[in-house]
Amino acid sequence: MYGYASPGVLAPAEAEALRKAVAHLLGEPPAEGQPVRASQSEGEVVRWSEGEAVRWMNQQGFTTARGNPWRREVLHRLLTNPRIAGLDSAGEPIEGWGESVLTPDQFRQLNALFVERSGQRAPARDAHEYLATGGCAVCGRCETAMTGARVHSDAPPSYRCPPPTETVPSCGSVRMNADRLEDPVAEQVLAELLKPGAQARLEALQADIEAEAARLRQHIGEADARFASIGDLHGRGLMVESAFLAAQKANKEDLRLSRARLRYLEQMTDLPIGGVHDLVHWWTTAPHASKKALLLLEVEQVRVLPQPEGSNDPHDRIQIVWRQSAA
Ligand SMILES: [Zn+2]
Repeated sequence: MYGYASPGVLAPAEAEALRKAVAHLLGEPPAEGQPVRASQSEGEVVRWSEGEAVRWMNQQGFTTARGNPWRREVLHRLLTNPRIAGLDSAGEPIEGWGESVLTPDQFRQLNALFVERSGQRAPARDAHEYLATGGCAVCGRCETAMTGARVHSDAPPSYRCPPPTETVPSCGSVRMNADRLEDPVAEQVLAELLKPGAQARLEALQADIEAEAARLRQHIGEADARFASIGDLHGRGLMVESAFLAAQKANKEDLRLSRARLRYLEQMTDLPIGGVHDLVHWWTTAPHASKKALLLLEVEQVRVLPQPEGSNDPHDRIQIVWRQSAA
């Protein structure tokens, strides 16, 4: 076992390397001459990840008991072995063990940290890719754009009307599980695709979107000129300070909204409609971004209503506003 020459007898260099790595994992203040992150400010305590500890061990030229470079799993297995702290599998001190690499206290802290970190990673592992966020799904009660959220890390992904803020007086009271919202919406989107003329309709919608995106890009490109001309009027004393500030603020807000709208539209333009003959088959195998593109292109809005009394049918909670072609 790495760190020991024999049970209860330290291999000094190995034990020292492990102790230093563990000190960094636990975020103990670095000893002199120890590597720290470039971004770390003086006196700041930074806990290494296991990956960082492994990189450091390898950079220092330490190899495993078998002479191989360290890997995260190998270090993790070693540091979660109670014997590294002279303990048996029940966590009791082994009689006559002699010296240990870590103290029982360090061992417990370290393992608590590993448990905590694995818990933090869990939600990210099954992160849900929402199909109708960003303004498509809106609260049927207050018209606010719904956001993707989980009530807690183990809860299923859901759409919710966000709690009100100073600028957005949302109701914050409507919530729907993502699968209950997205499945029936997808069902209706696919039903639309099976209607005659679907392909031509999609192409017309896409042309509209591309035209609007082009107008927005031009408008955004002209923002500097707009700011300059306001500044010019102000500089020549033709605009009072309050009017200047108000005009600047309005232009900034307009720019922000234009950019947000453009980002939203750009999600719809990445759709290989022309070459797709069987759209339903395409839907079942398409990547998330393409499905979202199709959904956002066809659906202007999904209005999500509070659950009506006596109904458990998700279709009763959803009103789809289909995008209409300008042509
Ligand atoms: Zn609401």
